[in-house]
Formats: sequence, C-alpha cells, structure tokens
Amino acid sequence: MKIICIGRNYADHAKELKNEVPKEPVFFMKPDTALLKDNAPFYHPSFSNDIHYEVELVIKICKNGKTILPQFAHTYYEQITVGIDFTARDLQQQCKEKGLPWEKAKAFDHSAVIGRFIPLTALENKEEINFSLNLNNQLVQQGISNQMLFSVDQIIAYISRFITLKTGDLIYTGTPAGVGPVKIGDQLKAKIENELLLDFEIK
Ligand code: ZN
Repeated sequence: MKIICIGRNYADHAKELKNEVPKEPVFFMKPDTALLKDNAPFYHPSFSNDIHYEVELVIKICKNGKTILPQFAHTYYEQITVGIDFTARDLQQQCKEKGLPWEKAKAFDHSAVIGRFIPLTALENKEEINFSLNLNNQLVQQGISNQMLFSVDQIIAYISRFITLKTGDLIYTGTPAGVGPVKIGDQLKAKIENELLLDFEIK
C-alpha cells in the first residue's frame, strides 16, 4: 500500500506559501509507516519546531490500474475521508532552498493521519464536497472539492501514467489555505460536510 499526496492543488494555498500555481499536478509519496489511524494521538517529533497541519480530502483506490483515462478514473475509488498531511515546515523550507527531496519534511512516521472512510454514495453532491478542520474548536481550514486545480479524476489519470495504482492506495488531494503549526495539547477535528470523521490530540 502506498500514500500519494498532491501538492499545491488549491490556488489560495499555493499563494500563502508563495509557490507558483502548477500547470500539471505535483505529487510526492509517503511510506506506509506514515499512517496514523483510529483517532490515535500524534506525538510531536523533536526534529521539528514547526509541524504544520494540512487538512485534505483523501480517497482510497479500489482496484488496480495503470494509464487510467480521466473518463474512467471515477470507477477507481468508492470511499472518501479527510486526513492530515503533517509537514515539518522548517525542514521543508531547508529542503526547498537546497533543491533537495522533501521526504524528511513530509514522509516521517505518523505524518499521514487518516479519518474514517465513508462511501461516496453517502454524499449529496459529489462535485462540491465541503470539508473543514477545527483546531481547539476554532475553524482554521475550509475547502470545497470544486476549488481543486486538478480534480480527483485528473489526478488519478496523471499519477497512473507514471505509477500503477493498487487497491488500498491512498491519495491525499491537497490542502486549501489556512495551514499552521500545532503544539502539544492541541485537539484537531476534521469533517466532510457535517460529519466528524477525524478527532485526535497532539501529545
Ligand atoms: Zn498536503
């Protein structure tokens, strides 16, 4: 099982990090050891002083596929949730400045927090999926899937040109604006529409 994450998929977030808006999807990967599930607490690692939350819609791949055409991409996922793409922003900045890969900043243990999956059929409007993140009961991030620069179907088509997708793979689809740091004691709650799918603590 692999975890694929899309970077810079919302114009407002690309802007807040002073990144260019990409002309094709930007993606990177996390290993399976990055997963954190079942609302388990996240232990703040000591190697970073600036761990940022990024709330994202996450889809689970339900069959194997290679070079998937965009018009068939929707048949490759049936479930969705919200997740957090934890990012060591200080380390990422150092990597960016040196033109180095991002793994240290993005792929560390428990950097891919995953909520409870729900079937896409449970959603009233699959084209406009609202999601949000509350930090200590304060709304900090809010997104709508139709604001993605590249839709889930386009992402699946693009990634599968390079990498075979397999059942159980997860795709984190990028974060909207409002990212920020976490500290020990914080409580994070993420929802799709009004359904709480993720609720965990920073320890
Ligand atoms: Zn992200």
